[in-house]
Amino acid sequence: MTTICRHCSKSKVNRPRGLCWTCYYTPGVKDQYPPTSKFARRGIGNFCGKAPLPPVPTTAAPGTPEKLAVLEQRARLKQALFHPADARYEGDPRPLEFLREQAAAMMACVA
Ligand SMILES: [Zn+2]
Repeated sequence: MTTICRHCSKSKVNRPRGLCWTCYYTPGVKDQYPPTSKFARRGIGNFCGKAPLPPVPTTAAPGTPEKLAVLEQRARLKQALFHPADARYEGDPRPLEFLREQAAAMMACVA
């Protein structure tokens, strides 16, 4: 099976997401195309060591496409993939409580 790159329609696909090598490694191009397989999260690569916490927790429940998008975004920003206040189930009030506390703390500083 020979597939042509979804982006430039010229080169043969030899990278994930139906992209050719050039397009895949052109900044910004890969982000326009979602992974073709939900297990194919090879694009960003892993990194080791301590990563800074993401600034805000997510309300997206684990396993949802929203949560996967959040994880991908965090990996791209070289942030820790998990925030201690991330939602652990659908409708988890934890992240909202975290944001409320953070807002309250900020108000306290201003006052
Ligand atoms: Zn291409």
